[in-house]
Amino acid sequence: MAPVPDTPTGDWQQQLRDVIRDPVALCRHLALDPAWILGARTGHELFPVRVPLAYLARMRRGDPEDPLLRQVLPLVAESDAVQGFVDDPLEERDHTPRPALIHKYPGRALLIASPTCAINCRYCFRRHFPYADNAPSMNEWEQTLDYLRDDDSIHEAILSGGDPLASPDRRLATLVKRLEAIPHLKRLRIHTRLPVVIPDRVNDALLDWLGGTRLQKVVVLHINHAQEIDEAVIAACERLKAAGVTLLNQSVLLRGVNDDVGALERLSERLFEAGILPYYLHVLDPVAGAAHFDVPDDEARQLMEALRQRLAGFLMPRLVREVPGEKSKTPL
Ligand SMILES: *Cc1c(COP(=O)(O)O)cnc(C)c1O
Ligand code: SF4
Repeated sequence: MAPVPDTPTGDWQQQLRDVIRDPVALCRHLALDPAWILGARTGHELFPVRVPLAYLARMRRGDPEDPLLRQVLPLVAESDAVQGFVDDPLEERDHTPRPALIHKYPGRALLIASPTCAINCRYCFRRHFPYADNAPSMNEWEQTLDYLRDDDSIHEAILSGGDPLASPDRRLATLVKRLEAIPHLKRLRIHTRLPVVIPDRVNDALLDWLGGTRLQKVVVLHINHAQEIDEAVIAACERLKAAGVTLLNQSVLLRGVNDDVGALERLSERLFEAGILPYYLHVLDPVAGAAHFDVPDDEARQLMEALRQRLAGFLMPRLVREVPGEKSKTPL
């Protein structure tokens, strides 16, 4: 096992290399009871452990119930076969007309700009996605860009992944230059968890290409619990806003992480303190290995009703599900 430094360095790429990838090291770092190691090893075989140190530092040591740890700690339950939980719950493999392109919704197209993530979330609907088949060469990118050029009904390019911000700035700057040369594109949207899990990712090089584009900019973060937002995350958000970015957040409703009204209330309040508006609260996509995170629909609706009694209207996320074949997310 390679030694890992205790505190992150300022260099985000170094932090990306220093992520914890060993399930036993994860348990040891957090002083968990050794009983958790078996599950951690079992789940790791199915979907590898990946946790940045800057994110780990926000977890409570010795507490297996910590809401951040629960998002990344593999459990034995991941190997249970549960009816209805499948490898490709969104049937995305049928919607990839060009390499790394998913075009399901009118007006916007999603580009898989990076095959990797900084963190591996156990509930991820892409945990079985064939990323290797979707890591195009520069030549193949040209086919993908042609698709966008040829369809002038597409006004918004969404960079997704994986995590698009796991790519080097040079590569992203080149991609955005080519996107902004497409006249009918108005907006650039980025779906990312990196400013949350490695806040140092929001550096000058990123702000250069992002702040410099003519496209209107939206960054949709992914935060599930108020405890994920520390001062470094707030500082990263302030820099993004100063570069003209609208900040939104999407969460997933997760058993044992944020499945109570108090946790959801604190999340919305804390998001707004960081200058982020709640956008979506997704019910879990039924991906194999994640059934233990599921919250039934009735309970989800009751949580939203209770939340409505506590929050300003603009702090209410929209409770949605992704239904394969639909032209938008489906409200519950
Ligand atoms: C979720 C999603 C979008 C974006 O949908 P919005 O409702 O605009 O946030 C676009 N394309 C795909 C494939 C998606 O899954
Ligand atoms: S950051 Fe997003 S895409 Fe990456 S593992 Fe987590 S949920 Fe999945």
